[in-house]
Amino acid sequence: MTGQSDQHLWRTNTDPSLRRLVSAIPDVLSTYWLSADGESHRFLFISERVLDVFGIAPEVLRENADALFSALHPEDITGVKASIAESAAALTPWNHQARVKVQAGHYEWFEVHSTPERLADGSTIWFGQFHNIQHYKELEHSLRAREAESAFQADFQKLISRLSSRFINHGFGTIDQCINELLRAIGSFFEVDRAYLYEFSQEYRVMENTHEWCSSGVQPLIDGQRNVPTDDFEWWQCKIDGMVSGNQAVFVEEIEQIPPGPERTMLKEQGVCSMFCVPVRVGGVVAGFFGVDSMRKRVWREDQADLLIIVSGLLSGALERNRLENELLNQSIRDPLTALHNRRYLIPRLNEMLSRSIRYGEHFTLAMFDLDRFKRINDSTGHLGGDVCLRMFAEILLEQTREADVVARFGGEEFVVAFSGISPADVRRSVSRIILAVRNHDFVFEGETVPLTVSAGVAGIGDLAAAPSSPDPIIGLADDRLYAAKQAGRDCFVDASGVSRL
Ligand code: GH3
Ligand code: MG
Ligand code: MG
Repeated sequence: MTGQSDQHLWRTNTDPSLRRLVSAIPDVLSTYWLSADGESHRFLFISERVLDVFGIAPEVLRENADALFSALHPEDITGVKASIAESAAALTPWNHQARVKVQAGHYEWFEVHSTPERLADGSTIWFGQFHNIQHYKELEHSLRAREAESAFQADFQKLISRLSSRFINHGFGTIDQCINELLRAIGSFFEVDRAYLYEFSQEYRVMENTHEWCSSGVQPLIDGQRNVPTDDFEWWQCKIDGMVSGNQAVFVEEIEQIPPGPERTMLKEQGVCSMFCVPVRVGGVVAGFFGVDSMRKRVWREDQADLLIIVSGLLSGALERNRLENELLNQSIRDPLTALHNRRYLIPRLNEMLSRSIRYGEHFTLAMFDLDRFKRINDSTGHLGGDVCLRMFAEILLEQTREADVVARFGGEEFVVAFSGISPADVRRSVSRIILAVRNHDFVFEGETVPLTVSAGVAGIGDLAAAPSSPDPIIGLADDRLYAAKQAGRDCFVDASGVSRL
């Protein structure tokens, strides 16, 4: 301590009118002294107010300024010291903002405004004040938050308009890809770990995860979520009721909010900490739900929830359109009477199967069936009775064939079954089964049993001299053999080995 700094101490502390003036100011006024070597510092003067504001007695600070420095927020100490050193070195004003612990025990923002003066011994004195700027900081903070929020909203709108134009313009059959893109875009935007779509079936008793996006490092669940019975989960069942009847969203900010039970256990095992699901409607009914999972606790603000509801609306529209497209597609490739595929579907499939078989050197065989004496059936039962028989025959065909076989109504009462990769012996077994099943089936119409049999002509690639470039020669040969079966007395089939009567 030098005589000069003592002088400052004496002057500021002894002038009564100055002291009164100072005590009337809400800020803390001070003269801060720092030795030339930077080792010791103290407040030569500090207004009494420092006791109310920081809870530190002025006498303490007059001895040593450490007490005020220990009240600084740990993150701000380095910055404060650097700003003092800079001001001392260049003798420029010391203006700095930092958090200081106030008397109540929490931190508030203060700003110091001080002008330095160098003393002859190389020490420095700053004359200035500490001003509470907490209010401004809070304002600034909320302004920033609002700015960030409107930027978020604007980004979201951009995202939604991009996704919706993607949905509007999606090509036939690309809906799954569009949904996957949407889940990825939304999942990344909301910074969640998983985004998914589930569909309900069988009156909400079963649900299936149809689409899923996971952030990197997060385990996908889709494979284990195929036929999930909903009645195993009491809490979830209740939430589904809410979605279905009240169109309600499901919010879980913290998994512990869910009552103990299988859902909580399962979600915990999956590492899910919070989740949010919104119902997705198709044709006015809840058909499934869209949801996001987060591996950490999330607070879903209401406006964010509204945004996710917009997403679910987008999905509803897309699924609805997809359903209509599928219906249209189905209508154009299915026969309305029997619901079997029609000729429009059959021909390209036959082309596909044929070229595949040629490429891999596999068998490809086609059986053409024609109901026997069907005109008579129509005559005896009427056209409606004939229709019933056609439907029953279609069912028999589906029952007696494998899923990989292609079954179609070729026209009138003629049907085709195409087999690929099946040996001629197995085809013969299959065709025999169909013929026997028809013979043994009770075709009943209006209480009357209708006697019905069927004949078939069977032909495959192996029956031709060279591999054909289209299925037509095989269809032609099968047709000829069908005619031969009719000639042979019906209720039988003809293939390369001749007539087979069972
Ligand atoms: P065959 O044993 O020689 O085949 O004798 P058939 O009487 O079955 O002769 P054909 O195959 O020439 O006759 C087919 C009949 O099937 C003619 C037609 O009235 C009837 N038919 C075609 N399509 C339908 C249909 O959608 N419903 C009904 N009820 N009958 C149909
Ligand atoms: Mg016929
Ligand atoms: Mg016919």
